[in-house]
Amino acid sequence: MIKLVTLKEKHELNIVNKIYDFKNPSKIYIPIYTDTTFKMNDYIYKNTYFGDYTTSISGYIKGSKEIIVSNKKITAIEIDNDFKENVSNRKRKKKITSKEDLINILDEYNLKYISNKLKEINNINNIIVVSIDEESYSVKELMRLSHNYPEILETFDFLLNILNLSQGILATKNTNFKSIKNVKSIIGTYPNIKISLLPDKYLISYKEFICEYLNQKKEETLLLTTNEIYAIYNVIKKAKDITEQLITISGNAIKKSLVINIRIGTLLEEVIKEFIEIIDNNYEIYINGYLQGIKISDVSKVIIDRNIDSVIINKMEEDNETECINCGACKKICPFNINVKNCYFDKMKHKNCIGCGLCNYICPAKINLKKVVWGRKYEK
Ligand code: SF4
Ligand code: SF4
Repeated sequence: MIKLVTLKEKHELNIVNKIYDFKNPSKIYIPIYTDTTFKMNDYIYKNTYFGDYTTSISGYIKGSKEIIVSNKKITAIEIDNDFKENVSNRKRKKKITSKEDLINILDEYNLKYISNKLKEINNINNIIVVSIDEESYSVKELMRLSHNYPEILETFDFLLNILNLSQGILATKNTNFKSIKNVKSIIGTYPNIKISLLPDKYLISYKEFICEYLNQKKEETLLLTTNEIYAIYNVIKKAKDITEQLITISGNAIKKSLVINIRIGTLLEEVIKEFIEIIDNNYEIYINGYLQGIKISDVSKVIIDRNIDSVIINKMEEDNETECINCGACKKICPFNINVKNCYFDKMKHKNCIGCGLCNYICPAKINLKKVVWGRKYEK
């Protein structure tokens, strides 16, 4: 049963409708998970694939470093940017006339996180494109629709045709006034796309909840975000590898909140030095929001990749956890009615927990319940 919550924000987002670019990092770091062989001073072309990562610059390998990805320590190779943008050449299939062609081309461009969504559903009967961010301090989906609505609609229409579907749904928040107006100005060209306006509530963008809200069968629905649709657009129309990620940086310890398009593999530390004016040196940093994300202690070990949507730089707050008062609020707010308090005190994870963080948000004793019940840190 759907449970949606209106959250009280901890800080104002105040984002201007502009996407900044950080295209010239001095170096990037690429995690090495497999037995890839590489040597110091090997030359790496832009768009080289290392597992799920695609190199976003060209240059020589100059070392390695331990970084943190999804809360795990991983060795990453360090590539010094030669600013030449030398690209490796690949032959790619061009014509796409079926679901299989689309899957193949997404795999060829190292976009398995999108192609897997197509592979998982045998019988796709509906597509929902969602322009709503999972957490309150990220606006990458809103911004993508606002800046690229013609490309989003064109690609959405293309997908509907490839999959032989007569109609799809573009879902956005009912407060996203500017984009709604823009989309409505051209949506008449696409009679097969319907716009649905959803309430501005936490968790509405989760597949389970959005399908229930829009009365669609989850197992027959392909849910794509606006950034995923834009990635498909770049692959099929521009033959372009996806080497950048939109990140929202906000918080009450910085002068101005920004949305920045950043090369994958760039160190968060370099981004902050280049773009962010810190106004209170006693700050703490969260990746991916207070509810779903984690607090980090070392920005020199975090790289930008597709698992990172937002960075919050806030004035330090004291953790003043107290004793459980048995109020029952954690169970009441949990979207899956998990008996969160019992799981926490029995030190048990729960298989239905999605790590939404609502139990932590509501707990008056400020107990980190999610840490035990979910048992994982940020990972998408
Ligand atoms: S984090 Fe898990 S246990 Fe807590 S409210 Fe969300 S789903 Fe429920
Ligand atoms: S919300 Fe916190 S204080 Fe209330 S029952 Fe749950 S753990 Fe205890």
